[in-house]
Amino acid sequence: MALGTARRVVLAVLFAGAVLAAGHAVAAEPDSYPIATDVRLGGDEAQTRFILDLSRKIDLHAFTLADPYRVVVDIPEVIFKLPPKAGETGRGLVKAFRFGLMMEGGSRIVLDLVKPARIDKAFVMDGSAGDPARLVLVLVPTDRDSFLRKIALDDKTNVKVPTAPEPPPANGDSRPVLVLDPGHGGIDTGTRAPGGEMEKDIVLDLAKRLRDRIEKSGKYRVVMTRTDDTFIPLAERVDIARKAQASLFMSIHADYLSHREGDAQGATVYTLSDKASDPEAAKLAEEENRADVIAGIDLKTQPNDVAGILVDLAERETKTFSLQFAHKLVGELKGVTRLHKDPIKSAGFRVLRAPDVPSALIELGYVSNKDDLKSLMSEAWREQMATSIAKAIDAYLSTHVAGAGTDAN
Ligand SMILES: [Zn+2]
Repeated sequence: MALGTARRVVLAVLFAGAVLAAGHAVAAEPDSYPIATDVRLGGDEAQTRFILDLSRKIDLHAFTLADPYRVVVDIPEVIFKLPPKAGETGRGLVKAFRFGLMMEGGSRIVLDLVKPARIDKAFVMDGSAGDPARLVLVLVPTDRDSFLRKIALDDKTNVKVPTAPEPPPANGDSRPVLVLDPGHGGIDTGTRAPGGEMEKDIVLDLAKRLRDRIEKSGKYRVVMTRTDDTFIPLAERVDIARKAQASLFMSIHADYLSHREGDAQGATVYTLSDKASDPEAAKLAEEENRADVIAGIDLKTQPNDVAGILVDLAERETKTFSLQFAHKLVGELKGVTRLHKDPIKSAGFRVLRAPDVPSALIELGYVSNKDDLKSLMSEAWREQMATSIAKAIDAYLSTHVAGAGTDAN
Protein backbone atom coordinates (compact mmCIF):
# COMPACT_ATOMS: atom_id res chain seq x y z
CA MET A 1 0.00 0.00 0.00
CA ALA A 2 2.72 2.42 1.04
CA LEU A 3 4.75 1.45 -2.01
CA GLY A 4 1.84 2.11 -4.34
CA THR A 5 1.35 5.51 -2.83
CA ALA A 6 5.04 6.34 -3.17
CA ARG A 7 4.99 5.39 -6.83
CA ARG A 8 1.94 7.54 -7.40
CA VAL A 9 3.70 10.50 -5.88
CA VAL A 10 6.79 10.00 -8.04
CA LEU A 11 4.74 9.72 -11.21
CA ALA A 12 2.63 12.70 -10.30
CA VAL A 13 5.80 14.74 -9.96
CA LEU A 14 7.17 13.44 -13.26
CA PHE A 15 4.01 14.24 -15.16
CA ALA A 16 2.92 17.38 -13.38
CA GLY A 17 -0.77 17.87 -13.40
CA ALA A 18 -1.67 14.28 -14.16
CA VAL A 19 -3.22 12.51 -11.23
CA LEU A 20 -2.50 8.88 -11.81
CA ALA A 21 -4.27 5.83 -10.57
CA ALA A 22 -2.18 2.90 -9.37
CA GLY A 23 -2.12 1.36 -12.84
CA HIS A 24 -3.93 1.81 -16.13
CA ALA A 25 -5.09 -1.80 -16.09
CA VAL A 26 -7.38 -0.72 -13.29
CA ALA A 27 -10.25 1.30 -14.71
CA ALA A 28 -9.38 4.93 -14.14
CA GLU A 29 -11.86 7.34 -12.71
CA PRO A 30 -13.06 9.40 -15.64
CA ASP A 31 -11.69 12.65 -14.21
CA SER A 32 -8.26 11.46 -13.14
CA TYR A 33 -6.58 11.71 -16.56
CA PRO A 34 -6.59 14.64 -18.97
CA ILE A 35 -8.97 13.93 -21.85
CA ALA A 36 -8.23 14.67 -25.50
CA THR A 37 -11.56 15.63 -27.02
CA ASP A 38 -10.78 16.67 -30.58
CA VAL A 39 -7.95 16.92 -33.06
CA ARG A 40 -7.37 18.64 -36.39
CA LEU A 41 -4.75 19.54 -38.96
CA GLY A 42 -4.55 22.95 -40.58
CA GLY A 43 -2.43 24.81 -43.12
CA ASP A 44 -0.50 23.41 -46.08
CA GLU A 45 2.97 22.19 -47.05
CA ALA A 46 4.51 25.60 -46.31
CA GLN A 47 3.27 25.43 -42.71
CA THR A 48 1.20 22.67 -41.12
CA ARG A 49 -0.54 22.96 -37.77
CA PHE A 50 -1.57 20.05 -35.54
CA ILE A 51 -4.05 20.96 -32.81
CA LEU A 52 -5.28 18.70 -30.02
CA ASP A 53 -8.06 19.88 -27.67
CA LEU A 54 -7.55 18.84 -24.05
CA SER A 55 -9.53 18.99 -20.83
CA ARG A 56 -6.55 20.65 -19.13
CA LYS A 57 -3.02 21.84 -19.71
CA ILE A 58 -0.26 19.19 -19.85
CA ASP A 59 3.49 19.05 -20.47
CA LEU A 60 4.89 17.83 -23.76
CA HIS A 61 8.17 16.77 -25.29
CA ALA A 62 8.37 16.79 -29.10
CA PHE A 63 11.17 15.44 -31.27
CA THR A 64 11.82 14.09 -34.77
CA LEU A 65 12.94 10.72 -36.14
CA ALA A 66 14.27 9.80 -39.60
CA ASP A 67 13.74 6.87 -41.95
CA PRO A 68 10.84 7.21 -42.11
CA TYR A 69 10.44 10.91 -41.25
CA ARG A 70 8.33 11.24 -38.11
CA VAL A 71 7.45 13.73 -35.39
CA VAL A 72 6.92 12.22 -31.94
CA VAL A 73 5.11 14.01 -29.12
CA ASP A 74 5.39 12.50 -25.64
CA ILE A 75 2.75 13.57 -23.12
CA PRO A 76 1.47 12.27 -19.80
CA GLU A 77 -1.15 9.53 -19.95
CA VAL A 78 -4.22 10.93 -21.65
CA ILE A 79 -7.61 9.44 -22.45
CA PHE A 80 -8.19 9.86 -26.17
CA LYS A 81 -11.85 10.47 -26.96
CA LEU A 82 -11.30 11.39 -30.59
CA PRO A 83 -13.45 10.78 -33.68
CA PRO A 84 -13.06 7.16 -34.91
CA LYS A 85 -11.14 7.99 -38.09
CA ALA A 86 -8.89 10.65 -36.52
CA GLY A 87 -5.40 10.53 -37.95
CA GLU A 88 -6.17 8.39 -40.98
CA THR A 89 -5.97 11.24 -43.47
CA GLY A 90 -3.23 13.82 -43.61
CA ARG A 91 -2.80 17.42 -44.63
CA GLY A 92 0.19 19.53 -45.65
CA LEU A 93 3.39 17.99 -44.29
CA VAL A 94 1.55 15.31 -42.33
CA LYS A 95 0.70 12.03 -44.06
CA ALA A 96 -1.18 10.49 -41.12
CA PHE A 97 -0.93 10.32 -37.34
CA ARG A 98 -1.79 8.02 -34.46
CA PHE A 99 -1.95 8.25 -30.71
CA GLY A 100 -2.21 6.03 -27.71
CA LEU A 101 -0.66 4.66 -24.59
CA MET A 102 3.09 4.09 -24.73
CA MET A 103 3.72 2.95 -21.18
CA GLU A 104 2.18 3.34 -17.78
CA GLY A 105 1.78 7.05 -17.18
CA GLY A 106 2.83 8.10 -20.69
CA SER A 107 0.93 8.58 -23.95
CA ARG A 108 2.41 9.39 -27.33
CA ILE A 109 1.39 10.94 -30.64
CA VAL A 110 3.32 9.93 -33.77
CA LEU A 111 2.97 11.93 -36.99
CA ASP A 112 4.19 10.45 -40.28
CA LEU A 113 5.64 13.17 -42.49
CA VAL A 114 5.36 13.59 -46.25
CA LYS A 115 8.92 15.00 -46.29
CA PRO A 116 11.49 16.37 -43.82
CA ALA A 117 10.00 19.01 -41.52
CA ARG A 118 11.15 21.08 -38.59
CA ILE A 119 9.17 21.60 -35.39
CA ASP A 120 8.74 25.37 -35.50
CA LYS A 121 6.58 25.54 -32.38
CA ALA A 122 5.31 23.05 -29.82
CA PHE A 123 3.33 24.23 -26.81
CA VAL A 124 0.15 23.79 -24.79
CA MET A 125 -2.20 26.73 -24.28
CA ASP A 126 -4.34 27.05 -21.19
CA GLY A 127 -8.08 26.80 -21.74
CA SER A 128 -10.10 29.96 -21.26
CA ALA A 129 -13.75 31.03 -21.15
CA GLY A 130 -15.19 27.70 -22.19
CA ASP A 131 -12.39 26.97 -24.67
CA PRO A 132 -10.43 23.75 -24.12
CA ALA A 133 -6.70 23.71 -23.47
CA ARG A 134 -4.85 23.16 -26.75
CA LEU A 135 -1.71 21.33 -27.71
CA VAL A 136 -0.31 23.07 -30.78
CA LEU A 137 2.42 21.85 -33.08
CA VAL A 138 3.62 23.97 -36.00
CA LEU A 139 5.70 22.24 -38.67
CA VAL A 140 7.63 23.85 -41.51
CA PRO A 141 9.55 22.14 -44.34
CA THR A 142 13.28 21.59 -44.14
CA ASP A 143 15.85 19.57 -46.12
CA ARG A 144 17.15 16.11 -45.25
CA ASP A 145 20.58 17.34 -44.10
CA SER A 146 19.13 19.86 -41.65
CA PHE A 147 16.59 17.31 -40.49
CA LEU A 148 19.33 14.77 -39.69
CA ARG A 149 21.58 17.42 -38.10
CA LYS A 150 18.76 18.47 -35.78
CA ILE A 151 18.23 14.84 -34.71
CA ALA A 152 21.95 14.48 -33.95
CA LEU A 153 21.88 17.62 -31.79
CA ASP A 154 18.64 16.76 -30.01
CA ASP A 155 18.81 16.13 -26.31
CA LYS A 156 17.47 12.60 -25.95
CA THR A 157 17.47 12.54 -22.15
CA ASN A 158 13.77 13.36 -22.09
CA VAL A 159 12.73 10.64 -24.51
CA LYS A 160 10.85 7.87 -22.83
CA VAL A 161 11.76 4.51 -24.29
CA PRO A 162 9.47 1.77 -23.13
CA THR A 163 11.36 -1.17 -21.75
CA ALA A 164 9.75 -4.44 -20.91
CA PRO A 165 9.82 -5.49 -17.29
CA GLU A 166 12.48 -8.07 -16.44
CA PRO A 167 11.01 -11.55 -16.64
CA PRO A 168 10.18 -12.78 -13.16
CA PRO A 169 13.12 -14.69 -11.63
CA ALA A 170 12.92 -18.48 -11.68
CA ASN A 171 13.43 -18.65 -7.89
CA GLY A 172 14.54 -22.25 -8.06
CA ASP A 173 11.67 -23.13 -10.35
CA SER A 174 13.28 -25.48 -12.88
CA ARG A 175 10.24 -26.00 -15.06
CA PRO A 176 10.70 -25.18 -18.75
CA VAL A 177 9.71 -21.60 -19.62
CA LEU A 178 7.19 -20.70 -22.28
CA VAL A 179 7.02 -17.08 -23.43
CA LEU A 180 3.70 -15.91 -24.86
CA ASP A 181 3.82 -12.73 -26.91
CA PRO A 182 0.50 -11.01 -27.65
CA GLY A 183 1.32 -8.78 -30.65
CA HIS A 184 1.10 -4.98 -30.70
CA GLY A 185 -0.36 -2.98 -27.78
CA GLY A 186 -0.82 0.63 -26.71
CA ILE A 187 -0.27 3.12 -29.51
CA ASP A 188 0.21 0.20 -31.94
CA THR A 189 -3.28 -1.23 -32.36
CA GLY A 190 -2.35 -3.79 -35.03
CA THR A 191 -5.01 -4.48 -37.63
CA ARG A 192 -8.50 -3.13 -37.17
CA ALA A 193 -11.68 -4.88 -38.28
CA PRO A 194 -14.36 -2.87 -40.11
CA GLY A 195 -16.44 -2.95 -36.91
CA GLY A 196 -13.56 -1.43 -34.92
CA GLU A 197 -12.32 -4.61 -33.20
CA MET A 198 -8.58 -4.31 -32.69
CA GLU A 199 -5.97 -7.01 -33.16
CA LYS A 200 -4.13 -5.93 -29.97
CA ASP A 201 -7.21 -6.73 -27.84
CA ILE A 202 -8.10 -10.00 -29.56
CA VAL A 203 -4.58 -11.44 -29.24
CA LEU A 204 -4.15 -10.32 -25.61
CA ASP A 205 -7.38 -12.06 -24.64
CA LEU A 206 -6.35 -15.26 -26.40
CA ALA A 207 -2.87 -15.18 -24.86
CA LYS A 208 -4.37 -14.87 -21.37
CA ARG A 209 -6.70 -17.82 -21.95
CA LEU A 210 -3.74 -19.81 -23.19
CA ARG A 211 -1.60 -18.81 -20.21
CA ASP A 212 -4.33 -19.91 -17.79
CA ARG A 213 -4.66 -23.27 -19.55
CA ILE A 214 -0.94 -23.97 -19.45
CA GLU A 215 -0.45 -22.78 -15.89
CA LYS A 216 -3.24 -25.09 -14.79
CA SER A 217 -1.22 -28.10 -15.99
CA GLY A 218 1.60 -27.01 -13.68
CA LYS A 219 4.23 -28.38 -16.06
CA TYR A 220 5.61 -25.13 -17.42
CA ARG A 221 6.36 -21.60 -16.27
CA VAL A 222 4.63 -19.01 -18.45
CA VAL A 223 6.06 -15.54 -19.03
CA MET A 224 4.02 -12.96 -20.96
CA THR A 225 5.65 -10.10 -22.89
CA ARG A 226 2.66 -7.95 -21.98
CA THR A 227 -0.45 -8.45 -19.86
CA ASP A 228 -2.07 -5.08 -20.53
CA ASP A 229 -2.49 -2.46 -23.22
CA THR A 230 1.07 -1.12 -23.28
CA PHE A 231 3.54 -1.02 -26.15
CA ILE A 232 6.63 -3.27 -26.09
CA PRO A 233 9.29 -2.81 -28.82
CA LEU A 234 10.02 -5.92 -30.92
CA ALA A 235 13.61 -6.27 -29.69
CA GLU A 236 12.38 -6.17 -26.08
CA ARG A 237 10.07 -9.08 -26.77
CA VAL A 238 12.99 -11.10 -28.10
CA ASP A 239 15.03 -10.07 -25.04
CA ILE A 240 12.37 -11.31 -22.65
CA ALA A 241 12.53 -14.76 -24.28
CA ARG A 242 16.33 -14.85 -24.12
CA LYS A 243 16.61 -13.57 -20.55
CA ALA A 244 14.01 -16.06 -19.38
CA GLN A 245 15.99 -18.79 -21.19
CA ALA A 246 12.72 -19.85 -22.72
CA SER A 247 12.24 -23.27 -24.26
CA LEU A 248 9.67 -21.82 -26.63
CA PHE A 249 8.50 -18.38 -27.76
CA MET A 250 5.13 -17.90 -29.38
CA SER A 251 3.91 -14.62 -30.82
CA ILE A 252 0.16 -14.26 -31.38
CA HIS A 253 -1.40 -12.10 -34.12
CA ALA A 254 -4.48 -11.71 -36.32
CA ASP A 255 -3.98 -10.81 -39.94
CA TYR A 256 -5.56 -8.43 -42.44
CA LEU A 257 -5.66 -8.41 -46.23
CA SER A 258 -7.08 -5.57 -48.29
CA HIS A 259 -9.76 -6.59 -50.79
CA ARG A 260 -7.41 -6.16 -53.71
CA GLU A 261 -5.23 -8.91 -52.28
CA GLY A 262 -8.04 -11.44 -52.34
CA ASP A 263 -9.99 -12.98 -49.52
CA ALA A 264 -7.57 -15.32 -47.78
CA GLN A 265 -8.78 -17.03 -44.65
CA GLY A 266 -7.68 -19.37 -41.91
CA ALA A 267 -4.89 -19.66 -39.39
CA THR A 268 -1.22 -19.63 -40.44
CA VAL A 269 1.94 -20.46 -38.49
CA TYR A 270 5.17 -18.62 -39.34
CA THR A 271 8.81 -19.30 -38.55
CA LEU A 272 11.88 -17.15 -39.21
CA SER A 273 13.74 -17.20 -42.53
CA ASP A 274 15.79 -14.64 -44.41
CA LYS A 275 13.95 -15.45 -47.66
CA ALA A 276 10.18 -15.42 -47.36
CA SER A 277 8.31 -18.57 -48.36
CA ASP A 278 6.03 -16.50 -50.63
CA PRO A 279 5.16 -12.87 -51.37
CA GLU A 280 2.21 -12.88 -48.94
CA ALA A 281 4.48 -13.99 -46.09
CA ALA A 282 7.04 -11.32 -47.03
CA LYS A 283 4.40 -8.63 -46.98
CA LEU A 284 3.03 -9.78 -43.65
CA ALA A 285 6.48 -9.81 -42.02
CA GLU A 286 7.04 -6.29 -43.35
CA GLU A 287 3.74 -5.19 -41.81
CA GLU A 288 4.46 -6.81 -38.45
CA ASN A 289 8.01 -5.43 -38.43
CA ARG A 290 6.59 -1.90 -38.70
CA ALA A 291 5.41 -2.01 -35.07
CA ASP A 292 8.42 -0.01 -33.87
CA VAL A 293 8.03 2.58 -36.65
CA ILE A 294 4.37 2.96 -35.74
CA ALA A 295 5.25 3.57 -32.10
CA GLY A 296 7.93 6.17 -32.89
CA ILE A 297 10.96 4.08 -31.95
CA ASP A 298 14.34 5.02 -33.41
CA LEU A 299 15.18 2.05 -35.62
CA LYS A 300 18.87 2.96 -35.65
CA THR A 301 19.04 1.75 -32.07
CA GLN A 302 17.50 -1.60 -33.02
CA PRO A 303 19.49 -4.56 -34.38
CA ASN A 304 18.12 -5.70 -37.72
CA ASP A 305 20.33 -8.46 -39.04
CA VAL A 306 18.22 -11.54 -39.52
CA ALA A 307 20.44 -13.03 -42.22
CA GLY A 308 23.55 -12.78 -40.05
CA ILE A 309 21.93 -14.66 -37.23
CA LEU A 310 20.82 -17.46 -39.51
CA VAL A 311 24.35 -18.60 -40.27
CA ASP A 312 24.91 -19.45 -36.65
CA LEU A 313 25.19 -23.17 -36.02
CA ALA A 314 23.09 -22.98 -32.87
CA GLU A 315 20.54 -21.22 -34.98
CA ARG A 316 20.14 -24.24 -37.23
CA GLU A 317 18.91 -26.32 -34.35
CA THR A 318 16.63 -23.49 -33.27
CA LYS A 319 15.29 -23.36 -36.80
CA THR A 320 14.61 -27.10 -36.89
CA PHE A 321 12.89 -26.99 -33.50
CA SER A 322 10.83 -23.97 -34.53
CA LEU A 323 9.61 -25.86 -37.58
CA GLN A 324 8.84 -28.96 -35.56
CA PHE A 325 6.70 -26.86 -33.25
CA ALA A 326 4.97 -25.22 -36.23
CA HIS A 327 4.02 -28.67 -37.55
CA LYS A 328 2.71 -29.80 -34.17
CA LEU A 329 0.66 -26.64 -33.90
CA VAL A 330 -0.88 -26.99 -37.35
CA GLY A 331 -1.62 -30.66 -36.67
CA GLU A 332 -3.47 -29.73 -33.49
CA LEU A 333 -5.38 -26.82 -35.06
CA LYS A 334 -6.63 -28.85 -38.03
CA GLY A 335 -9.61 -30.14 -36.11
CA VAL A 336 -10.73 -26.89 -34.48
CA THR A 337 -10.39 -24.07 -36.98
CA ARG A 338 -9.97 -23.24 -40.63
CA LEU A 339 -6.37 -23.24 -41.74
CA HIS A 340 -4.85 -21.16 -44.51
CA LYS A 341 -4.33 -23.22 -47.67
CA ASP A 342 -0.56 -23.10 -46.95
CA PRO A 343 -0.62 -23.14 -43.16
CA ILE A 344 3.16 -23.17 -42.55
CA LYS A 345 5.16 -20.28 -43.92
CA SER A 346 8.34 -18.36 -43.13
CA ALA A 347 9.68 -14.81 -43.46
CA GLY A 348 11.98 -12.29 -41.76
CA PHE A 349 9.91 -11.51 -38.66
CA ARG A 350 12.02 -9.47 -36.26
CA VAL A 351 10.17 -10.81 -33.25
CA LEU A 352 11.25 -14.39 -34.07
CA ARG A 353 14.94 -13.51 -34.06
CA ALA A 354 16.17 -15.06 -30.80
CA PRO A 355 19.00 -17.33 -32.00
CA ASP A 356 18.70 -19.68 -29.04
CA VAL A 357 14.94 -19.85 -28.50
CA PRO A 358 12.70 -21.86 -30.86
CA SER A 359 10.11 -19.32 -31.98
CA ALA A 360 6.91 -19.25 -34.00
CA LEU A 361 4.26 -16.69 -34.80
CA ILE A 362 0.62 -17.65 -35.23
CA GLU A 363 -1.81 -15.59 -37.23
CA LEU A 364 -5.10 -16.75 -35.77
CA GLY A 365 -7.12 -15.71 -38.79
CA TYR A 366 -7.91 -12.76 -41.02
CA VAL A 367 -9.92 -9.95 -39.49
CA SER A 368 -10.58 -8.92 -43.10
CA ASN A 369 -12.50 -12.17 -43.70
CA LYS A 370 -16.11 -12.30 -42.50
CA ASP A 371 -16.02 -15.92 -41.29
CA ASP A 372 -12.63 -15.57 -39.62
CA LEU A 373 -13.72 -12.41 -37.82
CA LYS A 374 -16.82 -14.17 -36.55
CA SER A 375 -14.59 -16.88 -35.10
CA LEU A 376 -12.11 -14.38 -33.66
CA MET A 377 -14.90 -12.60 -31.81
CA SER A 378 -16.43 -15.80 -30.44
CA GLU A 379 -15.75 -16.82 -26.83
CA ALA A 380 -16.25 -20.49 -27.64
CA TRP A 381 -13.79 -20.36 -30.53
CA ARG A 382 -11.16 -18.62 -28.43
CA GLU A 383 -11.54 -21.26 -25.73
CA GLN A 384 -11.15 -24.03 -28.28
CA MET A 385 -8.13 -22.39 -29.84
CA ALA A 386 -6.50 -21.94 -26.43
CA THR A 387 -7.08 -25.60 -25.65
CA SER A 388 -5.59 -26.80 -28.95
CA ILE A 389 -2.60 -24.48 -28.86
CA ALA A 390 -1.92 -25.56 -25.27
CA LYS A 391 -1.98 -29.19 -26.43
CA ALA A 392 0.50 -28.47 -29.21
CA ILE A 393 2.80 -26.62 -26.81
CA ASP A 394 2.69 -29.52 -24.37
CA ALA A 395 3.32 -32.05 -27.13
CA TYR A 396 6.31 -30.06 -28.34
CA LEU A 397 7.86 -29.28 -24.96
CA SER A 398 7.42 -32.77 -23.54
CA THR A 399 9.49 -34.21 -26.41
CA HIS A 400 12.06 -31.42 -26.75
CA VAL A 401 12.91 -30.30 -23.26
CA ALA A 402 14.70 -32.49 -20.78
CA GLY A 403 12.72 -32.96 -17.61
CA ALA A 404 9.49 -31.74 -19.15
CA GLY A 405 8.00 -35.09 -20.07
CA THR A 406 8.56 -38.81 -19.87
CA ASP A 407 10.14 -39.39 -23.26
CA ALA A 408 12.50 -36.41 -23.45
CA ASN A 409 15.52 -36.92 -25.69
ZN1 LIG B 1 -0.04 -8.35 -35.92
